[in-house]
Amino acid sequence: MKAKEIYIGMIINNWKIVSERYSKKTISGNSVLYVKALCLNCNIEYEMGLNDILRGHSKQCKECTNPRRYFSKVYTDEYNTIIEVEDIKENKVYFSYVDLQYFWELVNFNFGLVFSKSNKPYLEISGGIGKAKAPTPKRLHRYICFLEYGEEYIKGRTIDHKDKITLNNRLNNLNVVGALENAQNHSLRKDNTTSVTGVSIMKSTGRWIAYINIENKRIWLGDFNTFEEAKEVRERAEIKHHTYVQSIKYEQ
Ligand SMILES: [Zn+2]
Repeated sequence: MKAKEIYIGMIINNWKIVSERYSKKTISGNSVLYVKALCLNCNIEYEMGLNDILRGHSKQCKECTNPRRYFSKVYTDEYNTIIEVEDIKENKVYFSYVDLQYFWELVNFNFGLVFSKSNKPYLEISGGIGKAKAPTPKRLHRYICFLEYGEEYIKGRTIDHKDKITLNNRLNNLNVVGALENAQNHSLRKDNTTSVTGVSIMKSTGRWIAYINIENKRIWLGDFNTFEEAKEVRERAEIKHHTYVQSIKYEQ
């Protein structure tokens, strides 16, 4: 079957096509055809690669082949990044707190729970949106320290939660055990921080990102090679938003 022969309402294996096909650029610059399709088993709509559907590579949706136990959401309040993890089996919801500046490093991941021998819950990164793999390290508290201090610094060391609350993953609650005596040998990566609101560095990629908070929502403005570019985009967004707010006030 050819891509051209696909139409809305058509059923292929376990899928019902529900949109026109559309193309998207991948990171490497190639165009790939996608289509929205409904899984007829679980009634969830997915974005699917057209070729995957045509060739029968994805006969069932991920949820049907491998039902997830945990569903997670990442969002912010004024001071924290909050990760909410729902345990479907136990019907329980867990909340973990992380510093605000890590929001963009975490927002595209899924999270699950793992329990220690003493039954304390830890968050584990279980992969990202699309085909993105979970980073190393996977445990959230270790990943935060990895982003903040680098791989060398945390290697072979234990990380403790000072208040013994394993879901409190704010930096000031994380203690890299055995690190103090070696601290003079490492310069923490403080050079990467910026004092411009809405501009920060993605420690995982080394790229600068810009965002703006409007009505308690974080709006992504893009990622950039340099701090200056990110700063400029953020400033333009501020002016644009400001003008918008002013004109609403004026109309009223
Ligand atoms: Zn399904």
